[in-house]
Parts: sequence; C-alpha cells; structure tokens
Amino acid sequence: MILAETIGIGDELLSGLTLNTNSVFIAQELEALGIVTRWQTIVGDDLDDIKDALERALSRADVVTLTGGLGPTHDDMTKKALCNYFQVDLKLYPEILEKIKRRFERRGYKLPKINRNQAEYPANAELLNNSAGSAQGMAFQVGEKVVYSMPGVPREMQAIMREEILPRLKDRTSTRMVRINLHTTGVPESRLYESIHSVFLDHPNLKVAYLPKHTGVTIRLSLVSEDVSTARSQLDLIISNVRQLLPEAVYGIDDDTLPKVVGDLLRELESRVATAESCTGGLIASMLTDVSGSSDYFEAGYVTYANRVKHAVLGVPLEVLETEGAVSEATVKAMLNGALKAAGAEYAVAVSGIAGPTGGTAEKPVGLVYIGAGRKNDLVVKRFQFGRDRILNKEMTAMAALNLLRIKLLADLKR
Ligand code: AMP
Ligand code: MG
Repeated sequence: MILAETIGIGDELLSGLTLNTNSVFIAQELEALGIVTRWQTIVGDDLDDIKDALERALSRADVVTLTGGLGPTHDDMTKKALCNYFQVDLKLYPEILEKIKRRFERRGYKLPKINRNQAEYPANAELLNNSAGSAQGMAFQVGEKVVYSMPGVPREMQAIMREEILPRLKDRTSTRMVRINLHTTGVPESRLYESIHSVFLDHPNLKVAYLPKHTGVTIRLSLVSEDVSTARSQLDLIISNVRQLLPEAVYGIDDDTLPKVVGDLLRELESRVATAESCTGGLIASMLTDVSGSSDYFEAGYVTYANRVKHAVLGVPLEVLETEGAVSEATVKAMLNGALKAAGAEYAVAVSGIAGPTGGTAEKPVGLVYIGAGRKNDLVVKRFQFGRDRILNKEMTAMAALNLLRIKLLADLKR
C-alpha cells in the first residue's frame, strides 16, 4: 500500500482563518489512485517547523505533498526549508525570470526585487509547470519516496496536481480505488452493523465505513484493486446482498437522494403525490420539489399548522382534533384522506408532531411524530419518537415520511 502525507503550510491555516481545503482535494485525488492519505499535517510559516514536518513525513509516508509558503514575501519559507533539508542551494532559472519579467512588463510594471525569487528553486528540484500562476511546483525524489511542493492558492495547486502530479503517480501505481456509497435511513448505526456485517466478512480486501447523520447512515464501501471491472461487480454483489437484508432502510447509492428516488418511483407508477404537513412546515414538499422535473408527479402541498385549517382545508373532523388531539394517528389518517381528496392525487404523505423544544406533555413528549403515507383505502400511519432539537426533528420527520412513502410505492410497484 502506498501511504501519503499532506502538509499544509501557513499561519492562516493554523489559526483557522483559512480552511485547509488543499488537503481535502489532494487526499481525494490520491485515494482515487488507491494511495492512502494516512496523515494530514499543518504547520505555520516557520522554517524549522516546515523542516521538522518534512522529516517526519518522509520517515513514514511514501508520497509527501507540501502546499503553501511559495509566495515572494518574507513569510514564505518553503523553498528555504527544502534547501535546508536537502542541503542544497537555490538555483536561478533565467528563462523563468524572463517570463516573470515579461508578465510584469505587459501590465506596465517593472519587476519588483522580491519577485526575482520566483525564478529560484532548490537545485535538486524537478520543476512542475504551473499553468495557473507564476510559482512553479517542485518534485523531489528521495530514494523510493517522492515529495511534491505546490503553491497554496487552491486553483494553482489543483492545476499542478491535475496536469503534472497525478499523471506521474498514475504511472507509479497499478491500483485504483472503486467506491460505492450506500444510503440508508431509519435504522441506527449499531443495528445496521448487526444486520449486515456478516455480508462483509467474505471480502477481506473490502473497506467499510459507517457515516452516520441524523437523517440516516451512509455506508461507504471501498475496494482497492488492479482490476476495476471485477472490483465493481464484487461491490454490486455486496450491495444487492445488503439491499436484500435491509430493503426498508437502503434507499439508494452515490448521488441518489430520497426525494429523487421517491420521484422516480412515482413516475414509474404514473402517479402523483400530495403532502399534508404540520410540524415540518412544508419541508417535505420543499424536498420533493428540489428535484428537477418534480412537476411530473408533485400535485400539491398543504401546510396545515392550525387545527382550524386542518379542519377547513383537509376536513379533519373537529371531534377527532378534540378527543385525539392534533398529534395522533387519527388526525394524520384524516389528513391523508383530506389531501388525497383535495388534490386528487393517487398518493399522499402526512405528518403531525411536536417539534419542540417546548409544547411537550407527559403523554405526548417533544419529538413525538405521527407519520402516514399511502393510497385511498390503503394507508399506513406510524408513531415515531425523535429527539429534542426542533430543526433536527423536522429533518428526521421529513426523511421518515419520504421513506415511508418510498416503501409503499415499492410494494405497489411489485404488486
Ligand atoms: P501561499 O502559497 O502560502 O502564499 O498561499 C497563498 C494563499 O493560498 C493563501 O493566502 C491562502 O488563502 C491559500 N491557501 C494556502 N494554503 C491553503 C490550504 N491548505 N488550503 C486552502 N487554501 C490555502
Ligand atoms: Mg502563505
């Protein structure tokens, strides 16, 4: 396995003023080649710290990238640190100096003295062309290992990575990373693990990461392989096994979103949907209509917050609202029927709950939500207990509602 370390250089990175996005980009690009970034280091604009970081990185990683500290000003120390580490001097490249001079002259300036050093590089560096700026990138061979130094400006770093470094690394590696993200919702991480981890045991070279969020867990499956198509079919097989074990939780892969998957199913069923929302305040309708082309299947969204409107617009009986309350199975069922009728859609989804943080009682605590979905005479309403955070509750409710609808649509499709 080839291991990499990224070193971000700059006081602004240490202080948090600038986010170290260069490392994110570099790690992602390396990973696609099966090169594993094992360490990410940040150091300030300090000669000794840069030198120490480089020394440590070369003691453990095969590929080391440095970004930043290549500007012409006094605080840019990277070239000095490299010279110091490799015990070499700076070498002047007259043709680069000419280029920089001409660039300044075109803009009507004389070359400032401090910019001369942009034509100087450590004597043992192989220069890497920078198509997006004037500071060249550098490559250093250290035995079997390699060090790349690039400017900090993301656009310039990316240009050098794409045009110079990645092609070189591609020639060095025969492996590629094949990866699929499997999106789930409604099942906690530990239960997911219990249900499916046996599927992964037969694949010792498979890497599995559980990435939980309040709206669901993404399971990231990665294989490093020399044979992309075999790896891809191995992953496809694993995914179909997981889907079989968890048909209600797994809603898609990679770029799939739950609203998009629901929309595709509605389109397949040549059906339309209406939403009747209370505690989500229209979030479900908003998510459904985030998908381009949703006018094919999205018919109407009713945000009925007040009981009076639940009755007037959706026909929820006053008696149900009084005896069962707005947050109840009976109310949500009536909301579903009301939405189906008012919109003339084949499917409806409805929610009513206590988003919090106030408004809970012992009997109906904050986070209690009833969620329903279905067709006329074929409705399901379920009780959910979420947490205390209002915004998270709204988002979890919307996801659970769309997933309930998805499960219904799938069942109808298989009929
Ligand atoms: P430098 O090459 O050190 O002169 O950096 C030039 C500019 O690039 C800095 O002012 C930062 O805004 C940006 N920069 C430097 N390092 C990074 C990094 N690791 N991630 C994102 N931006 C960076
Ligand atoms: Mg800097």
